[in-house]
Amino acid sequence: MLSICRWSSTTLLRHSALRVPPVIVAGRSLHVTATLRHVGCAGSAHIPRTQRAAIVETTGAPLKIVDDHPVKQPSELAPGECLVHLDCTGVCHTDLHAKNGDWPIQAKLPLIGGHEGVGKIVAIGGHTQDSPVKVGDRVGIKWLAYSCLQCEPCKKGLEQSCLNGRYSGFNVDGTFSHTEAASILCAGVTTYRAIKYSKAHIGDWIVLPGAGGGLGHLAVQYANAMGLRVVAIDTGPEKRDLVLKLGAEKWIDFKESKDVVKDIIEATDGLGAHAAVITAATSAAYAQAVDYLRMGGTLMAVGLPGHGKLSTDIFYTVTKSINIIGSYVGNRQDAQEALAIAASGKVKCHFTLEPLSALAETYEGIEKGAIVGRVVLDMST
Ligand SMILES: [Zn+2]
Ligand SMILES: [Zn+2]
Repeated sequence: MLSICRWSSTTLLRHSALRVPPVIVAGRSLHVTATLRHVGCAGSAHIPRTQRAAIVETTGAPLKIVDDHPVKQPSELAPGECLVHLDCTGVCHTDLHAKNGDWPIQAKLPLIGGHEGVGKIVAIGGHTQDSPVKVGDRVGIKWLAYSCLQCEPCKKGLEQSCLNGRYSGFNVDGTFSHTEAASILCAGVTTYRAIKYSKAHIGDWIVLPGAGGGLGHLAVQYANAMGLRVVAIDTGPEKRDLVLKLGAEKWIDFKESKDVVKDIIEATDGLGAHAAVITAATSAAYAQAVDYLRMGGTLMAVGLPGHGKLSTDIFYTVTKSINIIGSYVGNRQDAQEALAIAASGKVKCHFTLEPLSALAETYEGIEKGAIVGRVVLDMST
């Protein structure tokens, strides 16, 4: 029987606190491939030939859930590759971009999306050397599936921008199948890193547009853990209650506010915020930031609209000495740090557990901005 439960990131975090290797961060010596629905005791897994999976066949086509998708067998694993039996996976806006093909780069087709999976290793490819994990270990599968650690970005600590990088649920099949750690692995790492490099110090004001969503609600908690004062921007009573509960000091409902910029400046001692981490996938969320940041403030660009341009007033960007910085997920070290903070109990993913069959509705919810926190798919249902 499985000794692991099938909840989301909390399970992963508990295990990581127990010093079980918490996450496969990219694949220096081990790459992850599709995973399995049911496993026996560690090392004695029964590995079926087929599995349930959510497949995108062509760009923009409706999702297809099939029960006969082949499972890569242990004998087919390359050295450095492993097979993971998935318990659960988070759903990210990136998965929707991959499905809709609205980014300047295109995903492989057909595609199994997903890049926030938690599960257990059931097989490791023959001739694998110096593996950091073993059969039975609980691991997470995140966006960066492989980085070479040889190119210039890798050697400078930007593994997430590796020139030879491969990405789960984009150009490598991901976690929306019955065979492959949940939301901390993408949403958590992404927001943690953006705040870490935002130049904000303890006691500074940080603005988080989209604070009640998947990335935003984790950002509120990481910002709090770092001693920052949070101005949460989003809409609706459910999101308001969540972010205030998670420690946001100020709340602005962008649909109710007559002037969001003015309200933010008022909320931040009349001087504006020290930093803004824009996780929203719309250009509009970016456009206001320079106006409400104080002198020397930092705009962290994180959310990825399909074809948005970042337009700011050059005059005020210069005269206010504004920093504009892009931040893309995180490297191995960022992932370990984000997980450690979550494992200490300071950050928790607020999620709704759904079956894989609810993926299409989840995408609709993401598109409408209606999802409070994160949706995590229970891969055992
Ligand atoms: Zn993601
Ligand atoms: Zn590289």
